[in-house]
Amino acid sequence: MALIVHKYGGTSMGSTERIRNVAKRVAKWHRAGHQMVVVPSAMSGETNRLLGLAKELAPAKPGAAYGRELDQLGATGEQASSALLAIALQAEGLEAISFSGWQVPIKTDSSYTKARIESIEDVRVKAELDAGKVVIITGFQGVDPLGNVTTLGRGGSDTSAVAVAAALKADECLIYTDVDGVYTTDPRVVPQARRMERVSFEEMLEMASMGSKVLQIRSVEFAGKYRVPMRVLSSFTPWDIDLNEEARSGTLITFEDNEDMEQAVVSGIAFNRDEAKVSVLGVPDTPGIAYQILGAVADANIEVDVIIQNVSKDGKTDFSFTVNRNDLAKTLDLLQEQVVPKLGATEVLGDAKICKVSIVGIGMRSHVGVASRMFRCLSNDNINIQMISTSEIKTSVVIDEKYMELAVRALHREFDLDQPQDSLAKA
Ligand code: ASP
Ligand code: MG
Repeated sequence: MALIVHKYGGTSMGSTERIRNVAKRVAKWHRAGHQMVVVPSAMSGETNRLLGLAKELAPAKPGAAYGRELDQLGATGEQASSALLAIALQAEGLEAISFSGWQVPIKTDSSYTKARIESIEDVRVKAELDAGKVVIITGFQGVDPLGNVTTLGRGGSDTSAVAVAAALKADECLIYTDVDGVYTTDPRVVPQARRMERVSFEEMLEMASMGSKVLQIRSVEFAGKYRVPMRVLSSFTPWDIDLNEEARSGTLITFEDNEDMEQAVVSGIAFNRDEAKVSVLGVPDTPGIAYQILGAVADANIEVDVIIQNVSKDGKTDFSFTVNRNDLAKTLDLLQEQVVPKLGATEVLGDAKICKVSIVGIGMRSHVGVASRMFRCLSNDNINIQMISTSEIKTSVVIDEKYMELAVRALHREFDLDQPQDSLAKA
């Protein structure tokens, strides 16, 4: 008997018919002797619908108290889907109980709309599991120290599921979604993209942080921190397929170091259209500049990604970084108000028409010249690189958004990702 966590995305929960299918699948696992915890998303479109209603009533954010109400509202989507799943399971003849985040409780900090999980109480859940029930826990939400409902950011149910799996020391966390695994890149952009049977946790972290929308990045961070075995698989297989076959399908996120295996140099191409570039021009090139600019941005809880500072000329320099596109307006306002007057910058520019394209692979550790191969490939297609950032296992470039698909396709080909997996070792 194992303790298994299943997570179902919004599409999988999209109608009563689909919820019934989820219930049948979960029942199959339960009947095979496993203790089951299920973390569902809201029914597809529901979170957007709810947040849309709020926006209708308050087109301009009406102040700090708004965040609390958004979370109070947004969290109801998962409450509904969780209760519906419990009902469907009961109709299948199983004992099932659903809990909202605050009932578990899943304790978070108080940053509304992007709260972080701090701890999860396991007593109540364990007691219900030991009583033979399937336990359903709402995705996407928790409760802050003052008892306010919080949500974990869009796509946050993945993180709920992995955090629950970590807290319960589950044997595996299965993320059921509308794709059948993690691909070398988005198949909508590159039809030749292939599903990976396994991907290392570190690569997954890079892919998730750079636009592979399959998993919310925090869920991967959680899986890494607590070494939660995690698998991404399709919820569109028939619910009654053989359980062992199902348990081996999709993409496994592994913690093993496959160093002795012959490793492809690059495992995947990630891209991201969610960022915007901010440039602060003509700032004095003195110690503390980066801190003064980025400190103010961090204080406003805005995440910064790629950063470059140019060489200085006449004691002045330009400083550029990327932020989430949703944060662009806020970042520009904040720089105008707080930073420009202090530093005497000549200009602050924002550019939302950029994208970031990255090559990812733990094989890059043992191969030199991978980045230059990437740059050569892009230059062959006449694509101008605006910013570069690297880590041990990835190289990212910021380029004009209009070249994104061209770049992703060219790189996918350049690193032989179009080829079937076993020929990759030779690449
Ligand atoms: N329902 C939330 C969203 O749409 C959380 C999730 O689905 O993971 O973002
Ligand atoms: Mg999702």
